[in-house]
Amino acid sequence: MRMNLLKSIYILACVCLMFNCKKQTLNPGNGAGNGMQAVLSDDAPGEGAIVLGQQLPNPYDIDVMQQAYEAIKGRFPAAQSPVRVTHNYTKLNLQDEQQLSDLKKDSTIVIYPYPMDFEIITPGTYYRHEEGQCDSCVTAQFASLKDGQPLPSNIQTEILSKLYIPEEDADLYHYVGKADAEAFEEAIVAEAFAIVGLEVDKNPGNTTQQRVSGSKWRPAGRIRVWDDVINNYVGVEGVEVKARRWFTTHKGFTNANGDYSCDGEFRHDANYSLQWERKHFSIRSGTYGQASYDGPKQRGNWNLDLNSGSHMFYARIFRAAHQYYYLNIDGLNRPPLNNSLFDPQLKIAAYNQSNSDINGVTSPWKRFLGLGNFIKLYNPQNAISAIHGTTIHELTHASHWNMCSPKSNYNGSDDIVAESWARGVQWWLTRKYYPNYQPAYNNTYTGVVEDMIDGIAGYDQVQGYTVAQIEQGVKNKKTWTAWRDNMINTYTNATEGNLPALFDFWD
Ligand SMILES: [Zn+2]
Repeated sequence: MRMNLLKSIYILACVCLMFNCKKQTLNPGNGAGNGMQAVLSDDAPGEGAIVLGQQLPNPYDIDVMQQAYEAIKGRFPAAQSPVRVTHNYTKLNLQDEQQLSDLKKDSTIVIYPYPMDFEIITPGTYYRHEEGQCDSCVTAQFASLKDGQPLPSNIQTEILSKLYIPEEDADLYHYVGKADAEAFEEAIVAEAFAIVGLEVDKNPGNTTQQRVSGSKWRPAGRIRVWDDVINNYVGVEGVEVKARRWFTTHKGFTNANGDYSCDGEFRHDANYSLQWERKHFSIRSGTYGQASYDGPKQRGNWNLDLNSGSHMFYARIFRAAHQYYYLNIDGLNRPPLNNSLFDPQLKIAAYNQSNSDINGVTSPWKRFLGLGNFIKLYNPQNAISAIHGTTIHELTHASHWNMCSPKSNYNGSDDIVAESWARGVQWWLTRKYYPNYQPAYNNTYTGVVEDMIDGIAGYDQVQGYTVAQIEQGVKNKKTWTAWRDNMINTYTNATEGNLPALFDFWD
């Protein structure tokens, strides 16, 4: 039961509260704040730059596979040679973020920021191609593309090697017969590895592991993050986990429990990894580019429980962004999508450092939000619910901008309008995970949205609007009174006569 008095205390108490977007003083009781830096240790697994070792000889090269076939064909007298170019190991020389976004529109293309035929000496969060390269530069990407795979036309490519990959050859049995297909596949791969001087069980960047002859295994496991509100691990839903062996990648998405199972099997061990991104959004490691986690190289399940370091922060942000983009949000508009030719993937820069001024910023929130304009998030030391709320808040600004036409209806809107709406969605969506979550309000970041929805009376005699109605009400409305009047004029609600008093209360 919220009372008028309580809300007044909120307002007084919150004048000096920092929140999103605007520089205000951080409430000393709200997290560890106060300018303290480096709250989280940097020695957690997977932090820092990926370090590559030496380039390995390539057993899947078409010429090597041809030699391997010649060496084993006597053992398969009925077989015809299946060796042909099935894939092209390709370097994609991307010029800008738009090209990277275009590439990510196609889920059949799996790209890596580092070459796939090198040892990985040190797994990390990001990869820099060369010393001195700018942190936010778009870098070349690497992929094993099916022969004939179309790409966005403006992307410049360089074929590094033409490949025959027996494990991905769906037509192999046409050449060697159904009964012999599996034995042939094993034999030609083993022979090709022997020709280039590698052990077949050795994956790039891997130590040799004991192989179980002939048996295949499916990559699977569970991705969770520590939840300091409920004091337990929770699943990170919607993450795409990849398992790669040389040029072959199998992938799978995590469910609400964090469980995943990949879409293919391997005979030998594989490198696990994940990127903190989906088609529509990407979490950046500060300014270093795509935040990635390189997991172990192994055979068998990979379970990851994140409880420290930057990846705990990324996972918590990912959960909120995934909710807004992919889960049920009660009819609200989604934030900007990576769909049409010119739409970019939305970038969220996560800084694994405390910031005593702000939790986050949609920068600059009053201007175009698109290429090169990142949402920035700070303060990994905050509670998971607060990080979730801040992420939703900033994405709400992006969504608000996206739905306004012309954009000046967002860019020119009063702070109290944009911030109160963002605060409202923050409250509504975060409570789906944390029912007791309560953001603080002040005279810019008001509680008007909560008050229009909830049935709590007092100074607030309004209730029963849906969050989707309020979104339509605020759309294209630049001022407090225009938003209020649009609510009154657009919807029939028994309490609408009390809207002026409510808007006056918060103004
Ligand atoms: Zn804001």
